Amino acid sequence: MQNGTEKSAIVIGAGVAGMSAACALADSGLNVRLVERRSYLGGRASSYLHPGVNEVIDNCQHVLFGCCTNLIGFYRRIGADEKIHWTRSMTMIEPGGRPTLLASSQWLPAPLHGLPSLLRAKTLTRHDKMALARAFGALLRPVPTNSRENLGDWLRRNGQTQGAINRFWRLVIASALNADIDVIALPYAAKVIRELFLNSAQAGAMGMSSVPLSELYAGAEEFLKQHRGKVVFNAGVEAAEWDEETSQWTLATRAGILVADYLVLALPFEAAAKLLPHMPPADGVSSLAGQIERHGHSPICSVHLWFDREITSLEHAVLLDREIHWMYNKSRLQPWRKTNGSYLELVISASQRFAALTREEAIDLSLRALAEFFPAIATAKLEKAALVKEVRATFTVPPGIDGFRPTSTSPWPNCVLAGDWTATGWPSTMESAARSGHLAAEAVCAALGAPRKFLNPDLKPRGLMQLLSPSS
Ligand SMILES: Cc1cc2nc3c(=O)[nH]c(=O)nc-3n(C[C@H](O)[C@H](O)[C@H](O)COP(=O)(O)OP(=O)(O)OC[C@H]3O[C@@H](n4cnc5c(N)ncnc54)[C@H](O)[C@@H]3O)c2cc1C
Repeated sequence: MQNGTEKSAIVIGAGVAGMSAACALADSGLNVRLVERRSYLGGRASSYLHPGVNEVIDNCQHVLFGCCTNLIGFYRRIGADEKIHWTRSMTMIEPGGRPTLLASSQWLPAPLHGLPSLLRAKTLTRHDKMALARAFGALLRPVPTNSRENLGDWLRRNGQTQGAINRFWRLVIASALNADIDVIALPYAAKVIRELFLNSAQAGAMGMSSVPLSELYAGAEEFLKQHRGKVVFNAGVEAAEWDEETSQWTLATRAGILVADYLVLALPFEAAAKLLPHMPPADGVSSLAGQIERHGHSPICSVHLWFDREITSLEHAVLLDREIHWMYNKSRLQPWRKTNGSYLELVISASQRFAALTREEAIDLSLRALAEFFPAIATAKLEKAALVKEVRATFTVPPGIDGFRPTSTSPWPNCVLAGDWTATGWPSTMESAARSGHLAAEAVCAALGAPRKFLNPDLKPRGLMQLLSPSS
């Protein structure tokens, strides 16, 4: 943009959606302020100093995958991509400690790259493996996005065994989508299977940050500074007014009044609902309110445990048949922490029951479960522990959800919507948030008459999957 015609934008909400929108707009020459209610970046994917344990912890372990092209693109823009540790293998452990390594073959083309380790898996019976192979075969072609079927019904219709349901679908897929199989829209489950297991080994590679999440995003604040923008912390937005004459927005925030030409609302759906009554009246507001009302939340809990010794040399593992789903060995993933013993984080997805436990009950249950997988627990001393409950962790993806995910177009002039819950086609993930941010930035640039492309293309399917992709 030329000097003298510089336009300004305010992005409300410094989660992944807001940060990616703000950085893309600053990159396009807009004067950007990223306005955040809290005193740190990251929203639902953040870290903070936990006073109880005096350690900086993530609100929960966040993983990404190679197919998250917009999140990776955002990380590249802010120089954070080097801080992601990638792996192409996953260990499943049964109570009693027997491990199964799932890894992709370097020799077989997609979608066969995962087959050898699936066939060798000790945790699944022959019938389970045949059922899974049948299901994967059926999902080689994309499911119509307007399918109203839920995953549970589809699994039963496609002859999935109890073992395949409990040890694969319930654990891997239901926890990726953070909901029970009976309330997951089939097209979303199919998308996860295709991206993580079929399209290519690169798409299914799993990434984890080697630094606390808010530190990962420090580059976003720096990027904005270098592009004459800034983050305004502790500035919860309470109301917004549109001035027809000046074509500008005026925001009332906890940090004072802010004015800008363009507005991006990058809020979670419940915060957007709270702000709606304090936005100007406009056609379409009640329809947006109706769309928001149909969204629901699902919880995720994490238990953080510090022991006086090493419990396992594994970086991470899927724990089978118990209430704890994932183990992340933070001492291995973040070696700079330099603990004498080890720091493990356990993640429990979509468990209303676990979210209702007290701290003592949750830690006790976690230790008892962990002892069934790792014998070292019996002699280890627990030095400190923390429980983090995120009851509004993700939005649910019931059948028909695409009918009520709004696009970036808002009811107001010069104002666009972002946030993981808007219409990106992705479930509640950082990738969905980054996509929404990029789409919102594209919409602002288009409105300015200076269109730009920010949405990163999807990874192309590899091997035999190229023949089965929708464009072939
Ligand atoms: C426990 C947990 C585990 C998860 N695990 C994963 C995972 O492994 N992988 C993955 O991809 N995703 C995961 N997710 C989901 C992921 O964190 C979210 O999808 C993503 O971070 C959402 O980003 P967002 O920017 O859309 O929203 P948010 O992150 O919610 O950002 C919105 C921001 O707006 C701010 N805000 C709210 N109201 C106002 C206001 N009035 N004024 C100013 N600011 C305001 C909030 O403080 C917040 O910072 C997990 C989420 C949780 C909670």
